[in-house]
Amino acid sequence: MNEFEIRIQKDCGLNLYASEIQKIQVNLGLKCNQSCRHCHLACGPEREEMMDWETMAAVLKIVHNVQPEMVDITGGAPEIHPLIRKFVEELSDDGYNVQVRTNLTALLEPGMEDMPDFFKDHKVHIVASMPCYLEENVNSQRGDGVYGKSIQILQKLNSLGYGMNPELSLYLVYNPGGPSLPPDQSQLEGDYKRELSNRFGIHFTGLYTMTNMPIGRFWEGLKREKKDDEYMQLLLGGFNCQTVGELMCRHQVCVAWDGTLYDCDFNIALGLPVSEELPKNIKDFTLEPLSNRRIVTGRHCFGCTAGFGSSCGGALASDNL
Ligand code: SF4
Ligand code: SF4
Repeated sequence: MNEFEIRIQKDCGLNLYASEIQKIQVNLGLKCNQSCRHCHLACGPEREEMMDWETMAAVLKIVHNVQPEMVDITGGAPEIHPLIRKFVEELSDDGYNVQVRTNLTALLEPGMEDMPDFFKDHKVHIVASMPCYLEENVNSQRGDGVYGKSIQILQKLNSLGYGMNPELSLYLVYNPGGPSLPPDQSQLEGDYKRELSNRFGIHFTGLYTMTNMPIGRFWEGLKREKKDDEYMQLLLGGFNCQTVGELMCRHQVCVAWDGTLYDCDFNIALGLPVSEELPKNIKDFTLEPLSNRRIVTGRHCFGCTAGFGSSCGGALASDNL
């Protein structure tokens, strides 16, 4: 057993297994119009990894088989994948709930002019990165000019009904600018709502707070600044058993651009596929062993269990210890 498994067993009396596959998360590839300094997958414009149609077709087949509550599409910047429209159309025509994770600025890239309308027409739920309501903090984490472009797209999404019409949900994602844990999600959501409404008349459905995981560019940056040990101690010291039942790996499976199956997107970044006795690729997917599989963990998992907890759907516990 590794350090994380021992901690879960000792403190919470559990071994970490999936409980059911409610969500299939699909990572379309690592190409992105941004190169954020906290990116756990080191995405950027130069990355060429992209899911092909054969793999997408295999995902569609498994979605029909599993009937998940949601198909969650991520990247990179998934909107710039040339086949995303075909993929979303197939899912939406068959009545599945589709969610797309956007960095917002990708929607200003050439050829994206009608993408917000396309999302609206297919009732795609949108989850958008917006790490602060202040310009300076967003630009320092995600690049010069990102804040202004993000505001522009949020206003466009509002004009289509996103964030106001209950069928068109628009969630924003906060992550800390440095080596600290996110504050209380509902309090921060109130601050975001007040500030974005007062400054720009922007409305959104809710806020997800996410912890910076000790991997990827964020971790490399901490190591350069010699703050990695301190941050790891913060994550270890903040371990919270209340988060364990809702850890996202327990309720989803994640498909990488090449079809490899993972417990979560962070494990993609670390090259840790699902447990060795299981089917490794979407083309070999079988529901029964995957839906109650043992989760592959590591030290990075303490990022999900610290404080209020963290997942692609925000905090996991109402109390931070
Ligand atoms: S964090 Fe998101 S927007 Fe930034 S480089 Fe990574 S995938 Fe792109
Ligand atoms: S990093 Fe992935 S595998 Fe580890 S606890 Fe978080 S969601 Fe689960």
